[in-house]
Amino acid sequence: MLSAISGIYLKFITSALLVIAAITLSSCGTTETLPPPPARDIDTPIERTYDFDEEAVINRLSEAIQFATVSVEDTTLIDFSIYDEFIEFVKESYPLINEQLELTILGGYSMLYKWEGTNPDLKPAIFIGHYDVVPAEESSRMLWTYPPFSGEIAEGFVWGRGALDDKGGLMSIVEAFEELLAQGFEPERTFYLALNHDEEIGGLSGAGSIARYLEEQGVELEFLVDEGLPIAEEIIDGIDFPLAMIGVAKKGAVNIELYYRHEGGHSSMPPRLSVVSVLGRALTELSENPMPGEYSGLIRDTFRPVIPYMSWGQRLAFNNPWLFKGLIERRMSDNPATNAALRTTAGKTIFEAGIKENVLPTEGRAVINFRIHPNDTVDDVVEYVRRTIDNEDIEIRVMPRMRNPSPVSSTSHPAYRALQSTIEENFSRSVVVPSLFVAGSDSRHFHNLTNNMYRFRPIRATHDDRARLHGIDERIRIYNYLEMVQFHMEFIKNTSGNL
Ligand SMILES: [Zn+2]
Repeated sequence: MLSAISGIYLKFITSALLVIAAITLSSCGTTETLPPPPARDIDTPIERTYDFDEEAVINRLSEAIQFATVSVEDTTLIDFSIYDEFIEFVKESYPLINEQLELTILGGYSMLYKWEGTNPDLKPAIFIGHYDVVPAEESSRMLWTYPPFSGEIAEGFVWGRGALDDKGGLMSIVEAFEELLAQGFEPERTFYLALNHDEEIGGLSGAGSIARYLEEQGVELEFLVDEGLPIAEEIIDGIDFPLAMIGVAKKGAVNIELYYRHEGGHSSMPPRLSVVSVLGRALTELSENPMPGEYSGLIRDTFRPVIPYMSWGQRLAFNNPWLFKGLIERRMSDNPATNAALRTTAGKTIFEAGIKENVLPTEGRAVINFRIHPNDTVDDVVEYVRRTIDNEDIEIRVMPRMRNPSPVSSTSHPAYRALQSTIEENFSRSVVVPSLFVAGSDSRHFHNLTNNMYRFRPIRATHDDRARLHGIDERIRIYNYLEMVQFHMEFIKNTSGNL
């Protein structure tokens, strides 16, 4: 996940699903809820269908975590020799991939493998992930149970920075490639596998170079699979089965600065309006008049598969949005997580004015971090700000590094359906829901190559697990990692032929 822009780590709580249970209605209904899917505890692994060397697989993940491939914004502070060592580790640890697949290094340290398919008529597909990680701050290191780059294997987990984001996801795909090669599997479709090195700081050099390289080669991709959403447990009160959330769209982002200049003066004889009060009023207008959000499109698709398992009151509302849409939208707006899925949000992040207690400032600025819903664009946001603050004396400045939201990928594309069926076969207790991903990731660089982007890792994540992402004691369940290898082997097989 891109920490620089996203700031807070909503990757695993993107969904609008946190507060369905909070939506209570006083209407009556008579139909029964569907029984939940067969129960399985989070600590009960799925049945394994492949016989690979589990210990070696786990040891390699542990080793991958031990390379402190830490991304920071100021790239002069990065020790790239560790990245070179990581590349060597991948080359040595996965001999079949390196003997049989074509490797291209792009952007200095990102690895692109090409597994040539037997049928040139099929469009290639790509798996992308990143091996860079966010730092583990010195100040919090003593809070880790095991050092963040130890890759400790203990208590049923592999511990360390990157276990969830994204070395766990990425290396499970590398393992799947190696294991399929060991089995002599020959895909009909060409598969690419990208190990990107700078996702946490925007991915321009890594994923950006890979996307440009593929475009130059005239490649058109059938689909792309990236990091993103997990198999989330404990995400809705009262729904005790996991939701396998496939990110089919990603929010955009733009920072807008409001700048205001005004005569200053002594605070003993203040003019009626000051810099602070003018900017303060503008921010209040924006808070009281958020951009519109509607219970329709993707957010409705997210809820639809879960409706049969809701209580009768909730079902009544969600099955009759023509009547209850307004109520649903109001309840969703009250909760930050559902609100983020419903509309473009405005986080007021910076306010600067004034230098001394008794001096009126002559200028001030406020910065608002907008996360743009797929229904809106950067231009819509600027227009909304202009209209809402309704003050021509305030300068509206669009700050650099903006991005529009992604298109919404189709849930009827065969790759989505293959993802869904592979999830259902392997994680039979899960209900698959198409979801909006509110954080950033490398898939943003690939929009010229395919419309079919699915952001999903089969990581089982409880509420507690989600808090560890970019946090302290990041770790992945050993059995879950083995499941992920199996899942990716099956997904590759399921999508290797004509879809
Ligand atoms: Zn990530």
